Amino acid sequence: MSAPRDPSALFISDLHLSPHAPATAERFLAFLAGPARTANSLTILGDLFDYWAGDDDLNDPFNARIVAALHELSDSGVELFFMAGNRDFLVGADFAAAAGIHLLPDPVVRDIGGVPTLLTHGDALCTDDADYQRFRTQVRDPVWRTMFLARPLAARRREIEALRARSETEKRIKAAAIMDVNAKAVVTALTTHGAHAMIHGHTHRQGRHEHLVGGMPCPRWVLGDWHADRGGALACDVAGWRFID
Ligand code: MN
Repeated sequence: MSAPRDPSALFISDLHLSPHAPATAERFLAFLAGPARTANSLTILGDLFDYWAGDDDLNDPFNARIVAALHELSDSGVELFFMAGNRDFLVGADFAAAAGIHLLPDPVVRDIGGVPTLLTHGDALCTDDADYQRFRTQVRDPVWRTMFLARPLAARRREIEALRARSETEKRIKAAAIMDVNAKAVVTALTTHGAHAMIHGHTHRQGRHEHLVGGMPCPRWVLGDWHADRGGALACDVAGWRFID
């Protein structure tokens, strides 16, 4: 009796796509038209966009181009999944329909090659950053979300730009350790969800770690961020799990 297998699953996150970084967007579009076509599924674990002001921003030419390219990949037979990050948490059902993508809650457990794997953006694991966790709780509140989305698109864009500038300044003064995941939070999440592996992004620190959960070593794969000259995926297939360019 073997669990259903997902022979070639690709995972990416933290592309931070924006018209201000056109070369990164070109790299992503080439990835969608090339390597991603050979996969059974592509899962985006958040921060695809540098920010997302709401699904009424789908008409923006930059956003429209990315969304159309995702839909083309979906039309080619690759199953697409999207989990929101802390930059694009306002993504909703209209985006999902336009991109041909299934929205995932954060976190979620998926069977990958027989391994129950916890998928998460990763920001919820950064429990040492109390200020950030307060902010996260606020913006994930459905009431806050409804009120924010009721404001005009231009006002939302301005506010998000201002928030982003403030968070960049804070990042420079916060200790690096505070902005990484907390090892106890990782073990608690794996235990709570009965998962034996984890894949997340957010910290931009690509790598593979191991955590002991009830005496069992559980791998934690951290996805890297994308730039003009760098940015790849985690590939999971019968040959194993590995980072590809
Ligand atoms: Mn993030």
